[in-house]
Amino acid sequence: MREKIAITVARGDGIGPEIMDACLRVLEAAGADLAVEHVEVGEAVYLRGNASGVGPGAFDSIRRTKVFYKAPLTTPQGGGFKSVNVTTRKTFGLYANVRPCRSLQPFVATRHPKMDLVIIRENEEDLYAGIEHQQTDEVVQCLKLFSRTGTEKICRFAFEYARHQGRRKVTCFTKDNIMKLTDGLFHRVFEEVGAEYPDITKEHWIVDIGMAKVVDTPEMFDVVLVPNLYGDILSDITGQMMGSVGLAGSANIGEHASMFEAIHGSAPRRAGQDAANPSGLLLAGVMMLEHIGRHAEAEAVHNAWLRALEDGVHTYDVAREGMTKAQVGTRAFADAIIDRLGKRPEKLPAARHERREPFTLPSPRPRPAAKRELVGVDVFVCWDEAGRSPEALARRLQVANGEDLHLTMLTNRGQKVWPQGAPETTCTDHWRCRFTSESGARVTQDRVLAVTRALAEAGLEVIKTEHLYTIDGKPGFSAGQGQ
Ligand code: NAD
Repeated sequence: MREKIAITVARGDGIGPEIMDACLRVLEAAGADLAVEHVEVGEAVYLRGNASGVGPGAFDSIRRTKVFYKAPLTTPQGGGFKSVNVTTRKTFGLYANVRPCRSLQPFVATRHPKMDLVIIRENEEDLYAGIEHQQTDEVVQCLKLFSRTGTEKICRFAFEYARHQGRRKVTCFTKDNIMKLTDGLFHRVFEEVGAEYPDITKEHWIVDIGMAKVVDTPEMFDVVLVPNLYGDILSDITGQMMGSVGLAGSANIGEHASMFEAIHGSAPRRAGQDAANPSGLLLAGVMMLEHIGRHAEAEAVHNAWLRALEDGVHTYDVAREGMTKAQVGTRAFADAIIDRLGKRPEKLPAARHERREPFTLPSPRPRPAAKRELVGVDVFVCWDEAGRSPEALARRLQVANGEDLHLTMLTNRGQKVWPQGAPETTCTDHWRCRFTSESGARVTQDRVLAVTRALAEAGLEVIKTEHLYTIDGKPGFSAGQGQ
């Protein structure tokens, strides 16, 4: 008998335990030979006062098995509770979120009969760094962080995944017409990495029109690569486009571990009714089987599931007149899949999970260190005097001027308001005050600190500073809008 493969399992909250039990039964019946280590994460742990939601030993188990099969969790309402998903993704560096979305027309009603795409979402960076501050009475901020390494890793992953899965095109969505540095980096690295994959077609869309195109004509897309926030939104949209959120599964892949889950939540109102659709978690299980090298079992489960749908065995969320022959609950749906193990769909294309070596990601390419030169500072101040007149503030700020560094611009929420602002622009109590040298020449750290000190001594409330660097001679900072 072959050795069992250890996996870590969280049965989750709400409908979680029902759908997880159903899925594990199917995987076992297919001969997956799994040694399951159950761990506790989620609601019960939160309610015992542990804000992380991660029970004792849970992460040690994941460290051991490197494979986490997770049912949905309920995050209690109210502040202070950390999302177990985000914590797990970040703790284990699960940087690639993979969500295949394929139509099952006519067996599951959808307005998008030809959709067959995979969303690859960056999982660790972007606005999900969770670095937020209230800076003034009026203004809060959330930092959007992209790293060159993180971006390169996800771009390489997308192209390697496309090649490995026999897909032909990778489309990247960013908003680099507005966020020229963050989204600009993502787009640039996508182009650079993509040049190493001449066999894969590359395409880039601005995210707003890109998402609109996905909703309109999903058949135009194959693999879609997106930064974290856009990916979060897009993958729920495409999941729903399949016909039910209960149908989509996802894999979170990292170098140290991987996590497999349904895309939907714990649907508390359906809990304990034996009604929920286990398909999303089951398809996540199929991805998990492929990941751990159980290709034949992955293919058997996937095809038995397709056949059950084709035979009209449906849970309530996909049931409809004319197509459904038996509307069943969670357990009976699992039984119907088990009965069909070894069968293939007759009308839908059969799933193939051939034994293939998993792809290993090439390491990020070494790059020569960039030449960084300090050329100024943006000092952010909270200021709510003189009717919020930019001219009045600019006069106060002159105290920090020196020969090599002086006030060159004020912006309010990014809009340039001095010099030559427009009188109509609404100003808040949050100001960015830019000090640079006229010539753009290099300045010292001491000189930059002296600007902040001079402003503080003049009674201005400095709330943050951002040092301004040129990187290989190009500005590593945004200009003010309207400039
Ligand atoms: P939800 O996904 O649980 O439910 C949204 C709707 O979809 C509901 O009408 C629900 O009945 C239906 N639905 C969801 N899964 C289904 C299934 N398998 N079969 C049939 N119908 C299904 O989203 P929500 O109501 O916004 O969130 C409920 C809880 O889940 C919250 O506590 C939220 O924090 C949590 N959540 C967890 C995860 C996760 O663990 N990955 C993801 C999203 C939400």
